[in-house]
Amino acid sequence: MLTNQQLFDRAQQYIPGGVNSPVRAFRSVGGIPPFLTRGLGPRVWDVEEKEYIDYVGSWGPLLHGHAHPSIIKAVQAVIERGLSFGAPTALEVEFAEQLTQWVPSMEQVRLTSSGTEATMSAIRLARGYTGRSLIVKFDGCYHGHGDSLLVKAGSGALTFGQPDSGGVPTELAAQTLVLEYNHIGQLEDLFAARGEAIAAVIVEPVAGNMNMVLPRPGFLNRLRELTRAHGALLIFDEVMTGFRVAFGGAQAVYGICPDLTTLGKVIGGGMPLAAFGGRREIMQKLAPLGPVYQAGTLSGNPVAVTAGLVNLHLAQENGLYERLGDMTRTLTEGLVALGRQYGFPMSTCSLGGMFGLYFRDILPTNLREVMESDKVAFNAFFHGMLECGVYLAPSAFEAGFVSAAHTSVELDQTLSAAENVFKKLRR
Ligand SMILES: *Cc1c(COP(=O)(O)O)cnc(C)c1O
Repeated sequence: MLTNQQLFDRAQQYIPGGVNSPVRAFRSVGGIPPFLTRGLGPRVWDVEEKEYIDYVGSWGPLLHGHAHPSIIKAVQAVIERGLSFGAPTALEVEFAEQLTQWVPSMEQVRLTSSGTEATMSAIRLARGYTGRSLIVKFDGCYHGHGDSLLVKAGSGALTFGQPDSGGVPTELAAQTLVLEYNHIGQLEDLFAARGEAIAAVIVEPVAGNMNMVLPRPGFLNRLRELTRAHGALLIFDEVMTGFRVAFGGAQAVYGICPDLTTLGKVIGGGMPLAAFGGRREIMQKLAPLGPVYQAGTLSGNPVAVTAGLVNLHLAQENGLYERLGDMTRTLTEGLVALGRQYGFPMSTCSLGGMFGLYFRDILPTNLREVMESDKVAFNAFFHGMLECGVYLAPSAFEAGFVSAAHTSVELDQTLSAAENVFKKLRR
């Protein structure tokens, strides 16, 4: 039997950093990532046959836990007929029609294979539709790894953005402006100064890539008003929040209608599937109807679409999101109470099956405040929990996920593991 260590050594010889996506390498928390071999419901197992309760859920897609029998059965049936055609299929039409019903702001959708493609394409479409170049994003929001979105703030809020990755040209980064999340004043100043040059504002309506940060009351509404008044498009990046915080996503929760929406993660149920869509008039600028080019050899793949369709049909179960929300609150409020009892000031927020957990006594509202949380305490807690068989996201700056397959058995086991860990770490 291979150990995690042996596999990680071998992986590092053939794959940069040993991983196919950086956060998996455990650089933020230190140590070795477990190499997973299987999952069932709320649990996963590694190559050493160690069992974990999983709060990562493949970084969000697994709303119903691992290897849900209905999803597996549907996928098995469809793969017998062939894996890909690169030609239209009835399944993708069914999926697109359902999405437009479930997310009414999306009058038309186009399917892609990753969230990154969806956001990149939405940005290009917004630029093509408006004939403008500037994009606005918020510090701490992640929108995949497209060049225009790997940008950090310049020296002031109204200055041009700077590359946040090697290989992103300064000239391109300068077309993206970066503001502080939840800061309505900065937004108003920017629109007053440059409103007519802005193609789009892209935002995670609930931020899930700087741990989890909820929008302040009024923030998203003001964003909607300002973009509309200045002819800029509002893009809700719901790759993480779509069908995770509620059926229909954060836009259903906050009652806001964006011009474009991007979806991913949950809509694919664990398969490579994402989408972008919005107002018909905008979507019809896409090739082959319009001048904005966008394509994909495997886009709308029948196997991925099948997994996604079943995942979303299962999400229609009555009361599912209330149950998820209750379980998630029980878990996170329990963890915070235990932490405080043992001398760790903590805070938490959650919505549906998504949660934020902070080693900081007051809930952060932007990246600057998120960065003030106690990373050393998180890392010690993370490793203690992993040792006890609880798999949390390996970074203080990632959101966590509870699935519909989690029950009070997993929650109790998690809370008693946490109590043991906090006891050992006690301050
Ligand atoms: C995960 C994520 C993406 C990128 O999706 P990939 O499928 O990893 O390319 C984009 N936006 C948000 C909000 C995400 O959480």
